[in-house]
Amino acid sequence: MRKLTREQRAKLKPRSRLVVSGRNPEDSFGFVNPPIVRGSTVLYPTLDDFLARKARFAYGTYGNPTTEALETALNDIEGGAGVILVPSGLMACTVPLLACLKSGDHMLVTDSVYRPTRDFCDKMLSRLGIEVTYYDPLIGAGIASLFKPNTRAVFTEAPGSQTFEVQDIPAIVGVAHARSAVVLMDNTWATPLYFDAHGFGVDYSIQAGTKYPAGHSDVLTGSVSARTPELFQQLKDAKQTLGVIIASEDAFLTLRGLRTMALRLAHQGPAGLEMARWLKERPEVARVMHPALEDDPGHALWKRDFTGCSSLFSVELHPVRREALGAMLNELSFFGMGASWGGYESLALPFDCSSYRSATPWKTAGPTVRFHIGLEELDDLKADLAEGFARMKAAG
Ligand SMILES: *Cc1c(COP(=O)(O)O)cnc(C)c1O
Repeated sequence: MRKLTREQRAKLKPRSRLVVSGRNPEDSFGFVNPPIVRGSTVLYPTLDDFLARKARFAYGTYGNPTTEALETALNDIEGGAGVILVPSGLMACTVPLLACLKSGDHMLVTDSVYRPTRDFCDKMLSRLGIEVTYYDPLIGAGIASLFKPNTRAVFTEAPGSQTFEVQDIPAIVGVAHARSAVVLMDNTWATPLYFDAHGFGVDYSIQAGTKYPAGHSDVLTGSVSARTPELFQQLKDAKQTLGVIIASEDAFLTLRGLRTMALRLAHQGPAGLEMARWLKERPEVARVMHPALEDDPGHALWKRDFTGCSSLFSVELHPVRREALGAMLNELSFFGMGASWGGYESLALPFDCSSYRSATPWKTAGPTVRFHIGLEELDDLKADLAEGFARMKAAG
């Protein structure tokens, strides 16, 4: 088998890239996949080698063949200067912030940001003397008015993973770069397959690998891709200085998940959209938040910048009593009630962000529920929800 260079792999369509990247049978005794290599100490054959640190891997915390294989595959689909691996999606949000901010800096964060990222800003960054301003996710180029002389970073997430506002990333990047601020984007919803973060100028592209990349609800992991070699060096230094590592088993499982990610998304995206359309027609549903729906407020931006959709979206129900919502959700056969998403199984999770949104108050008349659509037959999912709605009605 001929080994393709990174330049050759970059010319491939994503599905082929996900198959050939991050493996080299020559290095793994001919086996198709890289082995799980575990290790702390790396031995040097001679004093000269040791003094020159002449080794492909200097020490376990610097990576090993298994983690390197995953980095390579992710780097190939992100198209940036380099990728670091971290042990959770949350850490993929926090480590780049620690890499690019210092005491006295100011940062702008979208009000629709993943809640634990918000907690990190409020609890840790503020203690380190970093000031955070939350902004309306729909602000676009208007974000210029929120910049201060010390604004060093803008954190974006599009669409928001509960409320699904689509941000105008190119407009925000334009404003930020004109003021020498870096732009971070939590791109977990679309993945690099459906949103080319670096192509739009995003400096740090963040993935919760826990979701679609790993894809089977059995791994916690994350990654950050840097747009330029300088940004990558800064990121790698922060990761190294903090001592951040991921387990080889998790890297192996995530690489295994990546092999089928394009295929899963090609099924799950349209399946989610069909379920969103079906829910929209239900009398119990007040509105559906899914940017691929033609009448969604974020549809124009989504259509302009994204090349596909994943299978996560939300609905607002007409007001019902909590007991009635429980009657529906407690007895579903296919939809589990739990956090996280991106696996092969469907989920339905109530959420309420009214207590912490600060720039854009969040008010709904009825309860809001987030759906993740897995790989089940859609007829089964529709029947499950239809029965749930009937239970909800009966419980009044
Ligand atoms: C789940 C999630 C994360 C965090 O991932 P974990 O691996 O659960 O820490 C970050 N951002 C978004 C948008 C997520 O949905």
